[in-house]
Amino acid sequence: MIDSPYDFSSPGGWLRGNLHTHTNRSDGKQPMQEVVDRYHSLGYDFLMISDHDVLTAESDYAALDSHGMTLIPGNEVSAHGMHILHVHADNKVEPDPDRQQVIDQINASQGFAVMCHPLWNFRGREHAPLESLQALNGYIGVEVYNAGIELLDGNPEAGYRWDSLLHDGRRVWGFANDDCHDVTFEQGGMRRAGAGWNMVWSDDASAQGIVSAMQAGAFYASTGVMIDRIDVEGVTIRLQTKNASRIVALQQVGRQCAAADASELTIEFPDDATYLRFECYGPRGSKAWTQPIFRKETT
Ligand SMILES: [Zn+2]
Ligand SMILES: [Zn+2]
Repeated sequence: MIDSPYDFSSPGGWLRGNLHTHTNRSDGKQPMQEVVDRYHSLGYDFLMISDHDVLTAESDYAALDSHGMTLIPGNEVSAHGMHILHVHADNKVEPDPDRQQVIDQINASQGFAVMCHPLWNFRGREHAPLESLQALNGYIGVEVYNAGIELLDGNPEAGYRWDSLLHDGRRVWGFANDDCHDVTFEQGGMRRAGAGWNMVWSDDASAQGIVSAMQAGAFYASTGVMIDRIDVEGVTIRLQTKNASRIVALQQVGRQCAAADASELTIEFPDDATYLRFECYGPRGSKAWTQPIFRKETT
């Protein structure tokens, strides 16, 4: 009756990573090796370099010292429209103004598409209006958090936009990424590297293993709250975190259906919900976003 992307009966562990960061091959400040070094020093397990309309391929990574991190080939399709991450890219997708063409090309190759920073406000215009996202098909997720927008106009969080898509019945996942352009930037408690990341449950730390787990939704997005487990038994869902001080359960379209000032929350899937997701609040304004858990269609 309940369809959860999380399965802790299989062996695995949490892997930390960022899928969105720039180097001086587009508009980032540092060369690739310096960016990789910085994420290694932050304790990351995986990283994707996503320069604007520049493919970072496996062959580009081969020249670097990865320090044992998994480096995922990538590209941020940028010119002529909404920015789209091509995760696990094996070819350069051209920035066709028709973004459905871009997504179709991504899906025809290896990898998947994530819609970037929906609520970035550039010159008075929202980057990814709901109608634009509704008009496209085939992307597997949206950035529910993009740290780059902390320093620009707009909202780095896009939970409400995500809820609107989930309410439409779409199965899209929420990602948190740095969109880092300067790995040394730190000001007023804000930093560009290590601000938003994804925690992936997998027993396979290869690029393919991490990408497959993400495609299945076996991850959560975080800016500092750490989740231990999300267990489902019948219609009962139990979320356990390490350091949340408040947990809110949301159903469509972002309606709060339960909350607790605690590090864990147990809730029965509401009768009138088509999906349920959790936002967890922790120290210094940090958060975590679980993926949605769906009501399984009975035929
Ligand atoms: Zn972008
Ligand atoms: Zn970017």
